[in-house]
Amino acid sequence: TSLIYETTRFTWRQTYERCCRLASSLLSLNILKNDVVSEILVYTYLFHPCILVSLFLILIRNLHLQVSVLAPNVPAMYEMHFAVPMAGAVLNTINTRLDAKNVATILRHSEAKAFFVDYQYVPLAREALRILMGSSQEHHSSSAAAESSIPLVIVIDDIDSPTGVRLGELEYEQLVHMGNPGFVPTEIQDEWDPISLNYTSGTTSEPKGVVYSHRGAYLSSLSLILCWEMRNEPVFLWSLPMFHCNGWTFTWGSAARGGTNICLRNTTAYDMYRNIASHKVTHMCCAPIVFNIILDAKPHERCKIASPVQILTGGAPPPPSLLEKMEHLGFQVTHAYGLTEATGPALVCEWQAEWNNLPQDHQARLKARQGVGILTLADVDVKNMETMTSVPHDGKTMGEIVLRGSSIMKGYLKEQEATSKAFKNGWFITGDVGVIHPDGYLEIKDRSKDVIISGGENISSVELESVLYRHPRVLEAAVVAMPHPRWGESPCAFIAVRENAGGQTDDVKEADIISYCRKSLPHFMVPKKVEFLPQLPKTSTGKMQKFQLRALAKTFQVT
Ligand code: ADP
Repeated sequence: TSLIYETTRFTWRQTYERCCRLASSLLSLNILKNDVVSEILVYTYLFHPCILVSLFLILIRNLHLQVSVLAPNVPAMYEMHFAVPMAGAVLNTINTRLDAKNVATILRHSEAKAFFVDYQYVPLAREALRILMGSSQEHHSSSAAAESSIPLVIVIDDIDSPTGVRLGELEYEQLVHMGNPGFVPTEIQDEWDPISLNYTSGTTSEPKGVVYSHRGAYLSSLSLILCWEMRNEPVFLWSLPMFHCNGWTFTWGSAARGGTNICLRNTTAYDMYRNIASHKVTHMCCAPIVFNIILDAKPHERCKIASPVQILTGGAPPPPSLLEKMEHLGFQVTHAYGLTEATGPALVCEWQAEWNNLPQDHQARLKARQGVGILTLADVDVKNMETMTSVPHDGKTMGEIVLRGSSIMKGYLKEQEATSKAFKNGWFITGDVGVIHPDGYLEIKDRSKDVIISGGENISSVELESVLYRHPRVLEAAVVAMPHPRWGESPCAFIAVRENAGGQTDDVKEADIISYCRKSLPHFMVPKKVEFLPQLPKTSTGKMQKFQLRALAKTFQVT
């Protein structure tokens, strides 16, 4: 079986045929023809291991055959990862949590020719298209020209229980149905040809487009199944949005292993447990924040985890206490670190046999480190950005985490200035601050923008958050800098409290949290203020939206 979604099941043969049909239909729509526009991107070429670094200008062909999709993890989303490249086009998956303005910006920036929209997101798409039409009219003199920049819309209805929701004339299953099952996939001209276009999730700035090549996607997907030791015919649960770095390239990786893909429209605790148990899931990926959904499931939502489930987590720092609880429940967690710009995971916390006999909490602390570069994908270093020298491997000296290698992007689409700022001496600057331990393992201390500088001392918000997560009543925690008249900045903690047995959350007080932190942190690191929120603002990929919390913290008066 290749795909399972509620009562729908497809074998790999059926999936291949459906993808051939869809690819041929896409081409017959006449939207992708005669529109080959060349795009100039700055390519940074590395000749590794020599330090010789040179800059090339390279033409990327066919970049404008863009097909955008706004959908959760439904079968169509999975099939499009194959069908769109088979048509010689580029797949642009759009984050479903973006607002209409950002969706419109991406459609315009990527010059999408077709736009597939899951029925659930029709209202969002309709608004985005309205904005796009308005701005096109401003830019084009004739209304025909303005209309030509609006993509053709195709609605994806629910395959199990169609709703009939429409936005325009075309529907996904109709396209599949009318296509040619004997279609011969379009051959790529060059391994560097683009396969997909992923926009950064915009946690720290405006979303920027990163072009993935066939080469990069191929190397990443195969490297990840190797380093995760994914066996043949895995049962893969789609708990990570496929729109995030093409599901960290496991859309293609699980196929390379002949896997079964369990598609989920919603990642509720009930849906995850039910599918894990009924399909004997072997592998899943998720951001650490999803651990809370699994761990806090109500008794009626849970099922027994009969055989161990491998989880690959990343996208945000996993607090050691959550890692420990997940392992206790029967999950085997592997921790990876990556970015959109690195085609997904680039580092993995490789497990060492000598750690097997350590106490569980010590193991969890070791595993919470981001680890080592995945050999086939990226070189990693932590550098002092002024001198560009590597920091000593002492686990203390902080520096900027930099990457280079085959999975690192060549540049942002149509953003030459941002591209040149993103690299120094051939290294991609991640914007994360970390240390390297004596055993060579890297640990993130913060995003450079999130480091709190209090009275000249650098405070790692990640370190503080892992202490907060150890508190039994802390469900979610995020620490940001708050202006302080004496120290310049001081840490401010935002917390969502876990309910007690009586369903209350208001019994936990600021003083409780502060005195809890005092037990294990030096005085200057203890939050000067604790603010309780029902839930913390997060991006769709489970990252705290710290810029929102920082804005809130600025309004607090602290003496
Ligand atoms: P955005 O930068 O818009 O959030 P990405 O989804 O590419 O977009 O996020 C990459 C960032 O996520 C990294 O720079 C890092 O700050 C964070 N991150 C990813 N994986 C981890 C991890 N395992 N531990 C800590 N932080 C992580």
